[in-house]
Amino acid sequence: MNNKMSICPICHTSFPAVGRKKYCSDKCRYVAYKRRLRLDRQLDGKCPQCGKLYDGPLGTYKNKTSYCSHCQKYYHNRYISIK
Ligand SMILES: [Zn+2]
Ligand SMILES: [Zn+2]
Repeated sequence: MNNKMSICPICHTSFPAVGRKKYCSDKCRYVAYKRRLRLDRQLDGKCPQCGKLYDGPLGTYKNKTSYCSHCQKYYHNRYISIK
C-alpha cells in the first residue's frame, strides 16, 4: 500500500502520488508546460506568444510580458473586436 500524496505545483491540490506523476491532471501538466515554454522564450529574448525574435521596440507596459509587433497587433485587434 502506498498512500503517498503529492501537491500539484499548479493548482496546489493534493493528489495520490502515482509513479513520477508531478501534476494532478493533464490540464495542469499542460499549464506547466506552457508556462515553462513562455519563460524560456522570454529568457531567450523571444516573443512568448509565437517564439519569434523581437523585431521592433519592446512593447513593455508596466513590466508586463511583451510580445513581438505581430502579436501585439493581433492582441490589439482582438481587443478592439471584443469591444
Ligand atoms: Zn493541478
Ligand atoms: Zn509574437
